[in-house]
Amino acid sequence: MSDCVFCKIVAGTIPSTRVYEDEATLVFMDIGQVNPGHVLVALKAHAENLYAIDDAQAAALARTCRRVAQALRDAFSPEGLSVYQANGRAAGQTVFHYHVHLLPRHAGDGMELTWPVKNPPREALEAYAGRIRERLR
Ligand code: 5GP
Ligand code: ZN
Repeated sequence: MSDCVFCKIVAGTIPSTRVYEDEATLVFMDIGQVNPGHVLVALKAHAENLYAIDDAQAAALARTCRRVAQALRDAFSPEGLSVYQANGRAAGQTVFHYHVHLLPRHAGDGMELTWPVKNPPREALEAYAGRIRERLR
């Protein structure tokens, strides 16, 4: 897509700091660097979000995430690693080209994700699960 910033990074028409690439994926440094070593694992092909990718692309992305996560662990010795991926504006997505954040974490690093748990009764869990199961393709 001509107006997509990550397509431009894949094509090399705008600068980025590349870490790794293979046939299907590209890893580059996130310009914001929430913590040192914060990278983005993107598909080379344009796909807006998780709904738009196929099984082969999902597998390629997961494989690259696993490899690069191990290198991040060895390079930065973080206390933890957050794997973050947003779909849609309401989920916090700002670049609409499928990508996963690998974010090295340290205690007290200020990164926050609030989980406003509802702890519904078991019947609600069963009903929610049923709605999903019926629609699995
Ligand atoms: P998300 O869509 O998951 O919220 O995050 C998009 C991420 O892309 C942000 O963390 C932001 O810092 C990063 N980003 C946005 N524009 C650029 C860019 O031009 N180059 C790089 N390297 N990262 C970018
Ligand atoms: Zn794109």
